[in-house]
This record gives sequence, C-alpha cells and structure tokens, in this order.
Amino acid sequence: MGALRKPARFFLIGNNLAIDFANTVVDPGGDANGAIGSWEDLAAFLGAGRGTPEARGVLPLAMKLRADLRSILERLASGKVADAVRVEWINLVLKMEAAFPRLAPEKKGWRLERVQIHEDAAGLLLPVAQAAAQLVVEGASAGVRKCGNPACILYFQDKSGRRRWCSMAVCGNRAKAAAHWRRRITQA
Ligand SMILES: [Zn+2]
Repeated sequence: MGALRKPARFFLIGNNLAIDFANTVVDPGGDANGAIGSWEDLAAFLGAGRGTPEARGVLPLAMKLRADLRSILERLASGKVADAVRVEWINLVLKMEAAFPRLAPEKKGWRLERVQIHEDAAGLLLPVAQAAAQLVVEGASAGVRKCGNPACILYFQDKSGRRRWCSMAVCGNRAKAAAHWRRRITQA
C-alpha cells in the first residue's frame, strides 16, 4: 500500500508571493472558505512559527490586504493601474520596513546592526506587501494575468505572455478536452 499523498495546502502557482497570497481565497482541498481561515493557516503560508498573541492578531489585517490585492490584480490583469484606496493597507505594512543602523559591540570590535523602528507584528506581512508594491509600480508591464478558464479565479505572473492557465493539470487539460469535444460535435 502506497503512502497517502498529502494534498497541497495552497495553490503556489502565481510566480509571485503577493499573487500566491491573493490566490489563497481558493483552497486546493475544496474548502469554500479558502485556504486561510486561521492564524495557523496564515503562519503556514508565511512560514512563520507558532506566533505570539500579537502575531495572531495580524489575521484580520492579512485578510484586508488580500481583498485589496485581489482588486489590484483584477485591474492589473486588464491593463489598468491600481486604485489609490486599494494601496493603503500595502503602505501601512510597508511602514514596518523602517529601520536605522546602529553600531553594536562585538568580541573584537563593532558591527553595524539594523534596528526596526516598529516592533509590530504586521511586519510579518512585509514580504507580501513588498511583492505587492512591486506589482503596483510595474502596472501593466508586471504581466499579471487571470487564468484562461472563466470559471477559475486564480492569478499568475507571466511576462512572456505565453502562459494561459493557472496550471495545465487543473484548467489547461479541462479546456483542451472541452475544445476537443466541441470540434467532434461540429464535425458530426
Ligand atoms: Zn485555472
């Protein structure tokens, strides 16, 4: 008897951390609430540990960020620029990047360390916000695209313009099969 394969917890097909995060509204296991419904889910996505009580409080902010991110991706995928109101949460998280250098003594001398100005758990979302900000700046040239299957709501980044599907296995084959049957029917 073969070992049971654990189903993937997230669709990591976006080619971009912010897009992968936005895609967590869909759960590979089919949960209608999406792939992130608790701090544990969020921590698993971010690769964070068990989390302090403050870190656990980041979940509502993460969900707001995700909702705005989806609206931004929708606009970018149709060649528009992001709305000002949708970048507010990204800017709020980016603030956590603020740091200053400080000389700190070492055994044999000194080293320069970086001191974060904000000791805020929102900093956990910084990598997502940075990736999102990059997409917003690049705008239409970021190559954000929605999966070619109209019933699918996953996004991905593809600057080559050749990729059509979130994944060949999920949507590509389905579309191919549908086209095949359409041809068979018209030929009959
Ligand atoms: Zn798809």
